[in-house]
Amino acid sequence: MSETCCGGACAAPPAPSSAGTQSSAASRHRHRAWPVVAAGALIVAGAAAGWAGWPIVRLLAYVSSIALSVPTPARRALASVRKRVLDINVLMLIAVVGAAALGDWMEAAAVVWLFGVAQWLESWSLARANRAIASLLALAPSEATVRRGGVERTIAVDQIVPGDVVIVRPGGRVPVDGVVLAGESDIDESPITGESQPVSKGAGDRVLSGAVNGAAALEIEAERAAADSTLARIVRLVEQAQRRRAPVQSFVDRFARRYTPAVVVLAIAVAVVPPLVLAGETSWATAFATWSYRALALLVVACPCALVISTPVSIVSALTAAARAGVLIKGGAHLERLASITCVAFDKTGTLTDGQISVTGVRPLAGASHHRVLTVAAALEARSEHPIGRAIVAHALGQGVQPSPGESFRALPGFGAEATVSAVPAIVGNHRLFEERRLCTPALHAEIEAVETGGATPVLVGHGGTALGVLGLTDQLRERGREAVADLREHGIRHVVLLTGDSRARAGAVQSGLDLDDAHAELLPEDKVDRLARLRATHGPVAMVGDGINDAPALAAADVGIAMGAAGTDVALETADVALMTDDLARLPYAFRLGRATLANIRANVAIALGLKVLFVALAATGYATLWMAVLADSGASLIVTANSLRLLRTR
Ligand code: ADP
Ligand code: MG
Repeated sequence: MSETCCGGACAAPPAPSSAGTQSSAASRHRHRAWPVVAAGALIVAGAAAGWAGWPIVRLLAYVSSIALSVPTPARRALASVRKRVLDINVLMLIAVVGAAALGDWMEAAAVVWLFGVAQWLESWSLARANRAIASLLALAPSEATVRRGGVERTIAVDQIVPGDVVIVRPGGRVPVDGVVLAGESDIDESPITGESQPVSKGAGDRVLSGAVNGAAALEIEAERAAADSTLARIVRLVEQAQRRRAPVQSFVDRFARRYTPAVVVLAIAVAVVPPLVLAGETSWATAFATWSYRALALLVVACPCALVISTPVSIVSALTAAARAGVLIKGGAHLERLASITCVAFDKTGTLTDGQISVTGVRPLAGASHHRVLTVAAALEARSEHPIGRAIVAHALGQGVQPSPGESFRALPGFGAEATVSAVPAIVGNHRLFEERRLCTPALHAEIEAVETGGATPVLVGHGGTALGVLGLTDQLRERGREAVADLREHGIRHVVLLTGDSRARAGAVQSGLDLDDAHAELLPEDKVDRLARLRATHGPVAMVGDGINDAPALAAADVGIAMGAAGTDVALETADVALMTDDLARLPYAFRLGRATLANIRANVAIALGLKVLFVALAATGYATLWMAVLADSGASLIVTANSLRLLRTR
């Protein structure tokens, strides 16, 4: 937590679950509006009393106003002095005491009051950004109808256990993540995915907690407890992200830590040196009073308040805006890095191509039957998370083959998978896998060629040391892929490439279909990592976009790892730096745009804060700015900076 910032209120937002930040969360909630309002009213009353010629009432009003405003900065000043840090609260306290000592009660009151206004403003804006995230959770209902033992009952959602049958009424909200057992309805998942178009869901489809059911009733089987729902995890991850400090933020803190003591030294010099130098011209006491006042004004003006709050509000606002648009960014650092990316690498399957892979042909080799090829393939893929695996299982089911999962399943990333089927080792995968296992025969090559000439991707099936046959699979490029790639180029991405484990032919087709700059085929997961390093060397910071299922090493190796369709898969949500809730490639340029907008926003804030600072330091040192004008300038800068930061909440 920053020690130089405005009383700590400007550090990351409250941490509901971590003890370390609990105290700051509590102190923030003490930031109520009424003391600020009352202290302001008392200042007005004091000014009126002065005007009416009631000096005692005037003094009483100012002192009461100070008494209302000063406790928080005083407590914090004490805490930071104990830590041997000179922070802004100490500056404030010196200014108040100094102004009072000089008999300027009105200014003493105005100084702390305006400071309180700036702090209240900041905590209010952070709370607002936070509320926007927490309000997502409120979308999940608190009660649900569950059928247990044939009886329907309404229970609290946190009592739902995995396996419960939950009834969702038309127009109702889905209470837990689950799989549809019966019913067919259009579901609006926009709270989770940011995608406003309702999606039609039927038996076997996954639905997420917080989604709004359409016109038909649904029965779903709960997959996990309400506290572990995708929505709850998104909110948790965003809250964690908001607590993480971004590099610019640390930079501003480091700057303020040096800068504040420097200002104190300068102020002391302003108070002491000129009276000594000018001694003789006027009385020393008069000169000292004049220059002390200027020194105080300088102290207050130089307070880095607006500077220090310039970053956290921007970052929290941006993370919140992103989450509401279905883009989960795991911290300000990733947001900042998104702004610097110049090269984007894509995985193919499930990323540039849609998940709807279809099996277009089954070609058994001599001695095997169509049915046997499918049975073995489905048994192998039953445990696979790969889109190819899921397509094969779906096809087998459609052909009336009920897959009975093989044992000791193992995914072979970049190659395929293996398992024991009917007590015999079996494999499924690409040509390279079969070459490595020495299972290639001229007959097999002929079938592979036949599939490839038909424009499909061959997937080979082997059982007990011989090849059984070849499946032909086709997948389609995502609808908005080409536009998304063009859009990326408009957002400063200079090089867009494909990194795939698939064949050269298929990679070439994707490259021309989407107008990519380059395509690298037949890569194993570790080759993708190497490729990324080379891309970074020639093109600058790289982002890797994948589905998070079998490209975790590449996602981790990239400067920013982006997973698509993360609402459906847990791994993707956990491993990526940035997770797009939907499969919509159009969301990608948004992430880059937001990164750049945030950085620009922070830079503008720093420029505003420092610019006003420089101006008023000069005015204060030369005696043109009074104390309260100085504080007003700083509060004004804080106001401008927070208002500017909150604009990011609306980035679309
Ligand atoms: P991509 O880079 O396109 O995402 P992967 O690295 O996931 O591809 O896989 C590379 C190749 O390995 C696939 O094109 C496919 O031929 C083969 N493969 C991987 N997993 C499987 C599987 N479960 N079943 C069949 N083939 C697979
Ligand atoms: Mg992949």
